[in-house]
Amino acid sequence: MPEQSYRTWLAGSTAVGLSDDELIVEAPSDFHVEWVEDKYGPSLRDILRKLSGRPVSLTFQACAQSASPDELRSPMVPSLEVSPSTTTTGLRVEEPRADGHGFDRRTPSAKSAPSLNERYTFGRFVVGNNNQLAAAAGHAVAERLGRVYNPLFVYGGVGLGKTHLMHAIGHEVIERGPHTEVAYVTTERFMNELVSAIQTGTTRDFRRRFRHIDLLLVDDVHFLEQKESTQEEFFHTFNALHDAGKQIVLTSDRPPKELPGVEDRLVSRFEWGLVVDIKPPDYETRVAILQKKAFDDDLVLDPDIIDFVARSCTSSVRELEGAVIKLLAYSSLRNEEINLTLARTALQSVLRPGALSEGPSVSAERIREEVARNWNVKPDGLASKRRTKDVMIPRQVAMYLIKEMLDESLVRIGRLFGGRDHSTVIHSIRRVQAEMHEDDDFAHRVNRIRQKLEA
Ligand code: ADP
Ligand code: MG
Repeated sequence: MPEQSYRTWLAGSTAVGLSDDELIVEAPSDFHVEWVEDKYGPSLRDILRKLSGRPVSLTFQACAQSASPDELRSPMVPSLEVSPSTTTTGLRVEEPRADGHGFDRRTPSAKSAPSLNERYTFGRFVVGNNNQLAAAAGHAVAERLGRVYNPLFVYGGVGLGKTHLMHAIGHEVIERGPHTEVAYVTTERFMNELVSAIQTGTTRDFRRRFRHIDLLLVDDVHFLEQKESTQEEFFHTFNALHDAGKQIVLTSDRPPKELPGVEDRLVSRFEWGLVVDIKPPDYETRVAILQKKAFDDDLVLDPDIIDFVARSCTSSVRELEGAVIKLLAYSSLRNEEINLTLARTALQSVLRPGALSEGPSVSAERIREEVARNWNVKPDGLASKRRTKDVMIPRQVAMYLIKEMLDESLVRIGRLFGGRDHSTVIHSIRRVQAEMHEDDDFAHRVNRIRQKLEA
């Protein structure tokens, strides 16, 4: 688990009761209990069972005095201010990124709007039958902040453009009024910030931060499910902003009514404004997205290729984008133009995972070399014990790819990288997965290496 998650969620917990078949763990607050149960409960139980060799039940409870923020500030609870220095375990903890998803830690500044992705603009958002209403509502909201649909609630499946649309609204608002305060926050980050504020007794500051905001974008509110304390805080934030006529935009993977773990009063607020969905793109929209992408990125894609990709990838825009990247990778690796034969080969693996495993197999050695080359470091550096940043990321990526492509055991992977233990390997792999999830460019980079190795 990432060091910071450990510090936030587990470091403040203590075992307070242990019998043959039960372990009772006390966490700093109800909020911690809720979170740890939800996120880590299953894996903790799994580990516990492995360690003890028999079923042991695991119960979390909040400290009796968890209500007072002052007591939460006791040394037992580590501060969230994690510096990017080396910690006791020797793992480097990185600062939260300000480029992608998440609440910007500095005072939100409209001019820089650092938490908005530059590529997620209306200019790059293709409008089709599937998202027409959502896009129109987005424009309307950006034009008349807080005066039309408030909140605007956008829902739809994964990879269909909810986050993109939300950022686009943010960009447009800033363009129209450079002094407007815009904040983008994922629901997960909202929770983390809240916990941090509770731990450090700064919930007042936490609340005050939202007072200046003219447009609050909250992504993926379905993560509020079952998180009572976060819902409570979110409810107050929502009310404060809404009462002040500030605009709120929310996204979710489901409509408000289908969020059973969210309190009724919140659900009803979610429905106060406009609830609008984004559906998977139809064939014409997929073609338009591919054409736009080709144009924006200066690619030449013949109509028959576009047609082929649009027919092959039907589930989401993200899948379409993945297919184009795959085509490009194949084409440059084989030094061939993109034609139908190449597209068929390239996309076969998209359509049929595992199709490539029949091909020539890749060795761990090759993976390490390829990753090292991509990061411009020496392959030996990856195998060494060095902890400098230049080799750390490629080393983690190489571990990840060896696991994914060769399904090597963690212990063996550890050996390949200077005798690291399996927990370090797991940590590295998870880091890469998390980063790929957060950062599209990074994900593409890793996938390109993989495709190159598979080709
Ligand atoms: P969601 O938040 O719904 O899971 P995202 O907003 O992250 O989806 O979109 C996934 C990818 O697809 C992003 O790279 C995004 O830019 C792209 N995308 C989604 N919808 C569109 C669209 N209508 N036009 C162009 N690109 C889109
Ligand atoms: Mg999203």
